[in-house]
Amino acid sequence: MSAPSVIVVGAGPVGCVAAAALAARGIHVTLLEAAPRLPRQLRASTFHPATLDVLEELAPGVVDEMLGRGLVAPRFAYRDRRNGVVARFDLGSLADVTRHPFRLQCEQYKLCEIMLERFERAEHVRVCFGAEAVAAAAAGDAASVRLASGETLTADAVVGADGASSAVRKSLGLGFDGMTYEDRYLVLSTPFEMAEHLSDLEYVNYISDPDEWLVLLRTPELWRALFPVGDGETDAEALSDCSAQRRLNGVVARHEPYEVAHRTIYSVHQRVADRFVVGRVVLMGDAAHINNPLGGMGMNGGVHDAVLLGGSLAAVLLGDIGADRLDRHAELRRKLAIEYVKRHTHENAVSLAAPDGAARQRALDQMAARAGDPDAARAYLLQASMINAVHAMRAELEEVGHVRHGGITPVSTSGAVPN
Ligand SMILES: Cc1cc2nc3c(=O)[nH]c(=O)nc-3n(C[C@H](O)[C@H](O)[C@H](O)COP(=O)(O)OP(=O)(O)OC[C@H]3O[C@@H](n4cnc5c(N)ncnc54)[C@H](O)[C@@H]3O)c2cc1C
Repeated sequence: MSAPSVIVVGAGPVGCVAAAALAARGIHVTLLEAAPRLPRQLRASTFHPATLDVLEELAPGVVDEMLGRGLVAPRFAYRDRRNGVVARFDLGSLADVTRHPFRLQCEQYKLCEIMLERFERAEHVRVCFGAEAVAAAAAGDAASVRLASGETLTADAVVGADGASSAVRKSLGLGFDGMTYEDRYLVLSTPFEMAEHLSDLEYVNYISDPDEWLVLLRTPELWRALFPVGDGETDAEALSDCSAQRRLNGVVARHEPYEVAHRTIYSVHQRVADRFVVGRVVLMGDAAHINNPLGGMGMNGGVHDAVLLGGSLAAVLLGDIGADRLDRHAELRRKLAIEYVKRHTHENAVSLAAPDGAARQRALDQMAARAGDPDAARAYLLQASMINAVHAMRAELEEVGHVRHGGITPVSTSGAVPN
């Protein structure tokens, strides 16, 4: 009997990890990517400890390669723009519950590149660039994808990992309810070495301010600053050189103009698809849920989808579990997308940007109190590192065989992960 086959739509981080999860079980994967080559947009650049743990479980050696192309950030800080550091959190204190007690600052496309290099050597994975899917359909124990070229491909299942505007989701007629925030965010990146001019800067800094808050992140080559865009400001104004120079000079004032390596503006949404599974079509990542990027959980949550739902789908196709279990695992992922990610990212938004000065100060005081209390800091770090999120699906990961070395389970009783 030939091995089951799956078409994965989208070679972003989620599609690549889903393809790896399926191929690891011997499933034949066709990975379709609309772009002519791997997109290298500057989007997610933070991998949380729990994500590194599950990636290492799934594809040994991948995290080492990412470490070689990223920066280890053991700490992150909340700052007041005028008064400096308010609270500093040390992920090193989680060394008893994760093999990666740090954030890895590494652009998401590097994970895709590493995965695609592996697929070149894999027998079971065929990657097709310039292959845009326009629709997908489930039919009994099979599913199909229609391409923009007019061709229709069929397989035992289809994974929709084609991002927020997912053609797969839309063609299934699923709702994508939620909200669009009024805010838009501007991301500017510069090679200028901010750390030489701002004291106590970490690689990840959330900087609160009543007038213009920001998030300042280091990637291996650049500093990236994320700013809110003002109500009365058009996209063109926010993206102009004048705006970039004004904003970056507000962080560190310079006589020379800043070199701006990238600039991007985007709207912020909080939306979740009605269902993640329709027959033999499974949605993952941004195709299934999108959220406020503060806290960096979008891609991380998508990778968690890919590992759990990719493993579940493989197990269904191989006859190890029934389709009802895939539905249950998808419902769990949906619940985590709604409750966990939303709670954390929303809390971050309040502590940075509350327009009411007293509320903002209360949120900062709360962060400072947390950082100063080892138990509270640990509880917060377990949440922010997404270890709690992965722990919440530990039983399901075990069911589909993705916990091989015990690395995502607590390794000491003192490290017990609270719910
Ligand atoms: C500025 C910014 C910063 C962010 N920072 C973070 C962060 O630090 N941490 C974090 O966790 N998240 C972050 N996010 C969110 C993160 O980028 C997304 O959650 C992540 O990219 C989702 O991955 P994905 O693979 O689901 O979708 P995508 O990355 O959107 O990939 C989808 C892929 O599918 C392809 N595709 C689309 N349509 C089709 C089609 N019809 N047929 C075939 N292929 C198709 C696309 O070309 C693309 O390659 C950030 C987002 C932005 C915009």
